[in-house]
Parts: sequence; structure tokens; C-alpha cells
Amino acid sequence: MDQDKQTQEAGEQRLGVYVCHCGINIARTVDVAKVAAMASELPGVVVAKTYEYMCSDPGQNLIKADIKEHGLTGVVVAACSPRMHEPTFRAAVAEVGMNPYLFEMANIREQCSWIHEDRDDATAKATDLVRAAVARASRLVTLAEREIEVTPEALVIGGGIAGIQASLDIAEAGYKVHLVEREPSIGGHMAQLDKTFPTLDCSACILTPKMVDVARHPNIDLLAYSEIEEITGYVGNFHVKVRRKATSVDRHLCTSCGDCVEKCPSKVPSEFNEGAGTRKSIYTPFPQAVPSEPVIDRETCLYFTQNGKCGVCAKICTVNAIDYSLEDEFVEFDVGTVVVATGYDEFDPNLKPELGYAAYENVITGLEMERLCSASGPTEGAIVVGGKEPKDVVFIQCVGSRDETVGNPYCSRVCCMYTAKQAHLIREKLPKTNITIFYMDIRAFGKGFEEFYDRVRKESVIYRRGSVSEIYKQGDRLVVRGEDTLIGEPMEIEADLVVLATGLTPRDETSDIVKLLKLSRSSDGFLMEAHPKLRPVDTAVEGVFLAGCCQGPKDIPDAVAQAKGAASSAIGPMARGTVMAEALTAVIDEDLCSGCRICVSVCPYGALSYDEEDDVSKVNEALCKGCGTCAAACPSGTITMSHFTSDQLLAQVVALIGGSDG
Ligand SMILES: Cc1cc2nc3c(=O)[nH]c(=O)nc-3n(C[C@H](O)[C@H](O)[C@H](O)COP(=O)(O)OP(=O)(O)OC[C@H]3O[C@@H](n4cnc5c(N)ncnc54)[C@H](O)[C@@H]3O)c2cc1C
Repeated sequence: MDQDKQTQEAGEQRLGVYVCHCGINIARTVDVAKVAAMASELPGVVVAKTYEYMCSDPGQNLIKADIKEHGLTGVVVAACSPRMHEPTFRAAVAEVGMNPYLFEMANIREQCSWIHEDRDDATAKATDLVRAAVARASRLVTLAEREIEVTPEALVIGGGIAGIQASLDIAEAGYKVHLVEREPSIGGHMAQLDKTFPTLDCSACILTPKMVDVARHPNIDLLAYSEIEEITGYVGNFHVKVRRKATSVDRHLCTSCGDCVEKCPSKVPSEFNEGAGTRKSIYTPFPQAVPSEPVIDRETCLYFTQNGKCGVCAKICTVNAIDYSLEDEFVEFDVGTVVVATGYDEFDPNLKPELGYAAYENVITGLEMERLCSASGPTEGAIVVGGKEPKDVVFIQCVGSRDETVGNPYCSRVCCMYTAKQAHLIREKLPKTNITIFYMDIRAFGKGFEEFYDRVRKESVIYRRGSVSEIYKQGDRLVVRGEDTLIGEPMEIEADLVVLATGLTPRDETSDIVKLLKLSRSSDGFLMEAHPKLRPVDTAVEGVFLAGCCQGPKDIPDAVAQAKGAASSAIGPMARGTVMAEALTAVIDEDLCSGCRICVSVCPYGALSYDEEDDVSKVNEALCKGCGTCAAACPSGTITMSHFTSDQLLAQVVALIGGSDG
């Protein structure tokens, strides 16, 4: 109480320090009472306490009561990572009138108790961390958050099932959605699937009504055959520029009669059928495509490649919808929030040449098998390869998944089940065919998955635990060579058809999306969520959310669930109408700035610009995320970060190394 009085009289800092036990997470390794006792002796500290769970309501109430009783000017909580609970405590202190930027956190859990075993050493380190936090807290200043208005429209990038679901949910909530899909139709990979595990619903039958809903919804502006050129801005106010690729078909005139497609003389391999079968140069990717108007593929169209020689589609079109002179159009609009739903690529089996994908036409991928099974596929659903029904079919699981040799240590989560599904579909069509599945282990974790796997095993499908080293040809048959890993013996088995259960990989163009939106990727290359457990649909960029396989491999129910989560997160700021922007930004001392523009070139958010008139760099506070890149790069030390000033950081470092911060 003496110290309390002294600081009050001197008009100095009046800090409260709160050391959390976090159950036994911290208290088992750190002597929290000792840390609090040390803290109570530090200059400016008027109260220091410990509590079981500081983040709990009683814990927060303790802090709030002390702020009022002791007239605290700052609060330090020694607990977990600020990423976890800084917002909780900032909100708590703000509730009783303290500026939230006068709150400081010392991480004595992740950075101390969880990584040390010796109690004395851990307590000493926790003590140092708290001392450093108090030193910084005593130099914190009040900062004001800014309120930003939110444009009540959203952008969804990618029209697979995840993007479709997110768009429908946002549109149903009453907000306008711009859905940008780069292919001529929405639908994504789900449109290519035949049946879907484990319920065996026809994929097209459950997807098509949703695609039609998208096309009809008054709140959805569908921009198919389009790509994002540029996104600038920040949460609430993103400005988007989209390139609508020239389709050479006037969509306002076209009736989607299909005559032009039928008469087009140019045939090319069909991407939708994974290269099996052909499409025309003027085409819709599949019969239920949305939008239904065809597009001309200028790379292969004879009119474009042979100086206007063809022109059949224009001649046949009764409504004069073919217009070879159409150019790419640019559309610009503002949105408040963004959902990224750009999906996945199938693993490229050529990266495992020993499996013979490039060499043998009867070695195919999972998606090719889907098209082979499908009634709308190249064989109209007949399982035939090289004109014959296969007698022996072998599936090889985990191709490109759980495989360090190709840099993909992760599980693709769908291959075990889609293999079981495809085995079942073959069994239905070819009851006498031998079906063998080589697997590492079976992952049947979802609802109804184990039951489906059991059902398929009972259909005389042989599951063999094995690792395949090579596929080669003997006569007109394939030989799958490897090891039976249950009995530890080499094995060879003949096949007429080998299906590689290819895994899911990040899209090749993920880096473009990363650059456009300043997102991060996790070590597997997929887009990174803000927190793997607690913020699985958020990204580090406020107002940008993830849905579906762009964030990691997942099946349709999980993609839909995540899309619904992303949609509700995207709706939140639009429904509130405003968002609060972090007060932490870069601050430029214009008297010292030499106008070298290094900061402008390094800023990842485009928040800095060069002002020619004043010959200095300037900060757009709305864009600035307070990352500090510019401050670190500035050669003249002109840029400081509010809330992380040199004075504050130096005081922290000096206190940490036990010196005097004089
Ligand atoms: C062989 C195989 C069989 C499967 N079978 C099943 C099954 O039976 N049941 C099941 O639940 N799951 C199954 N899956 C998984 C299923 O395919 C996915 O869960 C689902 O397709 C994920 O949807 P998505 O919208 O996240 O991604 P995608 O389907 O990949 O859709 C992404 C969309 O975004 C578009 N896009 C990409 N980049 C851009 C860009 N930059 N700009 C604009 N648009 C862009 C793409 O063109 C595409 O339309 C299977 C997967 C495979 C490989």
C-alpha cells in the first residue's frame, strides 16, 4: 500500500500484474506466486495477483475490479499467447473505461511452461518475461481504433460446390454476391463425379439444382469465364477488377440451342472428361453447365487459327449470337468481404513415373475413373478400356498423398472412400471382374464411412496392404509389382486396368491468389487459415475467408460446412455495417523522410505511397496492417510503429536482459 501511495503521489504509472495458473498448464512448471511476488516489487506496479484461469469471467472480473479500485493506468496479464486471449483482455479492460492499448501480455505458457521442465529455470524465465512486459506497459500510450464503413456486397472466387454454397448463403441473407469462376461453367470437380460416397447420391442430380439456383438468384451476379485482375483495399472496402474473357458468343442473344456446337467441325480433347473423349471448339463443358451459353476456345477454333476460314457456327446461328469480334471486358466493383473457394488440383501422376501413367493408356487417375463411370462420360458409363471390359482391376491408394518423395506428407482424406466407391460402381457393372485395392491403411473417419467400407469389402473386393514399386507391361497386360506389407513378401499381380487413387494438391495458381489478396500458405501449400482450430475459415487478412479445398483436402460435406461458415463470417461485417480497424499502424516522421521509397516497395499491403509534392512517403492508415515491414526496411529510422515504438521495445529488451532502461 505504501508503494501504491508513492506512485499515486508521483503521478506515475499504476500497473496491475495478473499471473495465470492456466489450470496446471502454467502452474505445474512455473511458481506463479513467486512470479507475482517479484512483479509486485517492480516500479509502477501497484497490484500483482495470481488466479486459476485469468481468461474466465471471475478472472476478468478480478482485473476489472482492480482497475476501478486502484485507478490502474495499465494492465499486464502473464498467461498464454496473445494470439489466444489478447482480444479477451483488451475487451475486458475496455469495459471499465481503460484504453485497450494500455494492456500488455506476457506469454509464459507457449514460450515458457510448455517448453521447459525445470521448475526453477521456468520460474526465472517467466519472471524475466513479466519484468519485460511491465517495462513496456509503463510506456504504452492510448490509441484510437478507427471505424470503417462496410460495402454490403461480397466477392466469391471459385464456383465449385464450396463457392456455390457460400454464394447462395450470402445471397439468401440479402446481400449482393459477385461470383467469379474462371471456367465457362460453375460446378468445379463435383460436376465431374459420378456418384458420391458414402450415400451414392448422383453427383449431378444434387449439384445441378444448386447451380440453377445460383443462375436464378436475383442477388447473385455470376461472372463465369472470368478471372480476377486486381483486388485493392481492405475489409469493408475492397475494390475488384475482373476480366471477362471474350466468349465470342453474345450471351444476350444466345438461346443455348446447341446447333453451333453440333455443327462445329473442330474437335479437341475434353478437359471435363479428363482428356478422354472430345469436345468441340465451341462448347459448353457438360450438358447441365451454368451458364448454358457456349464459348469459343480461340486456341483451337479454325476461325481464329486459320484466318477466318471456318465460320460455320456463325452461319448456323439463327439469332446471330456468334460475334468473333468480341473482346475481353473489364468489370469493376466494390465489396466489403471476400470468400476464396478456388478448390484443388488432382495430383499429377507423372511425378511418379514408375506407375506408368504416361506410358500405358490403361493406367488412369481417380477423376478419369469418375468420368468412365459416369453416364455423361466418354463411354456413357460403360467400364471399357481399349474397347474391352477389364477382367482384373487394381486400385493403388495414396498416389501423391502421404508421400514425402513428392513433397506431400499429408493425407488427402477422400481417396480411401472414393476408391471404395469406385470399386463398388465397377462391381455393380461388372460382377465377375476381380478387384484388388492396395492400401497403406484405411481412413474411414466420416459419418457412414466405416459402414460403406464394410459393405464394399463384402462385395468381394480384395483389400491388400501393400506398397507398389512399379507397373510394367507384359504382353497386353499390366503387371503391378510391389510388396505385400502384411506378410513382408514381394508380390506381382496382373491387371487390365489400374486406377491410381490420386490425391488432392493445391492449385497451381494458388500463388496468384496469395499475391492478389496477400494471403499465406501453410507448409502443405494450401491456403492458410488464421487459426487451425479456432478460426478455420478466417485468414490473416481481415474480411477474407476460406471455403472448401483451397484450404486443404476435404470431401463435399466438409466443403459445404466450411462454405457455410465462411458465408456467415462474410455476412457478419456487412450486417454490422462498420468494422473497427486496428489502431496499430506505421507512422512516418515526414521531417526525417528522404523520400527513398524503399518502404513503398516492401509494403505487402500497398499501404504506403510516395507523395511527389512533399517528396516523402505517406501511410494510408486504412490499408496499413501494422506488420512493421516498412519500419524494419527504412534506412533512416523514419518509420515507427504505433504501439511498438523503439522506446517501448528497447525498454522491454533492457528489462529482459536485466539492465537498467535508464
Ligand atoms: C476422384 C475423386 C473423387 C471424389 N469423390 C468424392 C465423393 O464421392 N464424395 C465426396 O464427398 N467428395 C469426393 N471428392 C472430393 C470433392 O471433389 C471435393 O470435396 C469438392 O469438389 C471440393 O469442392 P471445392 O469447391 O472446394 O473445389 P473445386 O471443386 O476444385 O472447385 C473450385 C472452383 O474454383 C474455380 N477456380 C479455381 N481458381 C480460380 C480462380 N483463380 N478464379 C476463379 N475461379 C477459380 C475452379 O474452376 C472450380 O470451379 C472426390 C475427389 C476426387 C479427386
